[in-house]
Amino acid sequence: MGRSLSGYGTVNVMPRPGWKSVSLPKDMVDKIQRIIESNPELGYKSVADFIVDAIRRHPDYYNIRFEHFNVYEDHVTIFDKELKRLVDVYFSDRKPYVMCSLCEDSDCIHIRFTLSLEKVRKILKEKGFVIKDDKIIRGPF
Ligand SMILES: [Zn+2]
Repeated sequence: MGRSLSGYGTVNVMPRPGWKSVSLPKDMVDKIQRIIESNPELGYKSVADFIVDAIRRHPDYYNIRFEHFNVYEDHVTIFDKELKRLVDVYFSDRKPYVMCSLCEDSDCIHIRFTLSLEKVRKILKEKGFVIKDDKIIRGPF
């Protein structure tokens, strides 16, 4: 008997409840399967999880998903169309400098979107924050 791939969800015939099936090139699915198996630290439970994550990172998806709302003194409000709710991203001069009110995290998709906005970047830079790759790497002194 060969190596068991059960638990990775690639041979499901029926989609999960609330999901739809799409066809992908076999080679691609096999490659993703190997990535998941040899990199368990990445935390992907299935090929589907990997692909969903990849789509969420796609710049077009990202820009369609979010809408910029307002810039306030200490936070920015964005609208997450996927979750159908407003999300506040707070800034502080103390580490970790930025916090998402929804995810309660300092590195999430809302923060990355907020930090990609030119208007927000300009204000933060004026205050002395250093932003790199949509992350704040240093706060103001
Ligand atoms: Zn968030």
